[in-house]
Amino acid sequence: MADETVKKEDDGTNEVKEQVQAGPQSEALTMVVQAQAAHVGQAEEEEEVALSFPIYHMKKGIQLPETGMYFVIGSNGIFVHKPSKIGRSLVPVEGISFLERVPSFIMPSLPKLPKRVVCQAVAFFRQVFHTHRSEAGVVIYYNADQKDFILWCPRQKVSSGSCDYDRNDSGQNEPALRGYNIVGTIHSHCDFQAFHSGVDVSDEELYDGLHITIGNVDKDAFSMCSSFVQHKTREVVEPEFCCLGLIRQEDAWASKSQWISFNRTNYYTLDLDPEEQKLVQEDAESIRKFWMPKVEKKSYGWTGGMGFHSKKNDGSGGNYGLF
Ligand SMILES: [Zn+2]
Repeated sequence: MADETVKKEDDGTNEVKEQVQAGPQSEALTMVVQAQAAHVGQAEEEEEVALSFPIYHMKKGIQLPETGMYFVIGSNGIFVHKPSKIGRSLVPVEGISFLERVPSFIMPSLPKLPKRVVCQAVAFFRQVFHTHRSEAGVVIYYNADQKDFILWCPRQKVSSGSCDYDRNDSGQNEPALRGYNIVGTIHSHCDFQAFHSGVDVSDEELYDGLHITIGNVDKDAFSMCSSFVQHKTREVVEPEFCCLGLIRQEDAWASKSQWISFNRTNYYTLDLDPEEQKLVQEDAESIRKFWMPKVEKKSYGWTGGMGFHSKKNDGSGGNYGLF
């Protein structure tokens, strides 16, 4: 829209005015075009004209000019100051239309989660499921200097559809976790599929990092999905691209179905040699001893804490009841 309108400059400003719809942003655009028209003959690039409008950062005590056109960036967005024949205004705009679009990106700088860490999460979720028929969650800590991951199990109240962490048990004051930072979470979906539930998505938005969901923990091949969140923007990432040692299994239900199957997740087993298997068994014992006592079955009506919820059917596009 912006390019198209600005190009109209050659045809004269009157036509441009007709093209532009009413509204602060489009009026601002008209002003740009008019300014450009005024510069015709001075051989200025249109960007230079556009960029000649000042952009102010809204700070305490700032004295904004009372004349001229300019933009102001504040905590509540971008605003344009616009003088006109009937007065002047400082009103919100969605963007500065004559500038180029900003290409957004998320570029994680984390190694993949080691196999043993994934195993610890799976072992914990299996134990919680067998004991409480409930979900559970762990926090992923990472030490960038040592390139080392540690899972932390916060005290939590669990049920079949939710898991609430105790905020006071985030692990942040643990001496063993000095030098480590929280880089994500892993939570379970009991014996149903891993998927990004609506509540998961809104929970994840609050925490930058890697978020993994593991489902079907009652089966040898568990389901798994993962996403990376940075400043409320989520990118779904395939589990193999963020965890080591996963072997993708076929989805028997979807493979056999005669119908195109939506909302299926991927199923995995872990590639462990006998040595690693021994280690995983030892870890499972430690989990039973140290993590399981921190898990309490939620009594009805308990609320509070940092929550990871999921529902079998939360309207996020699922035919989950069918599977
Ligand atoms: Zn969930």
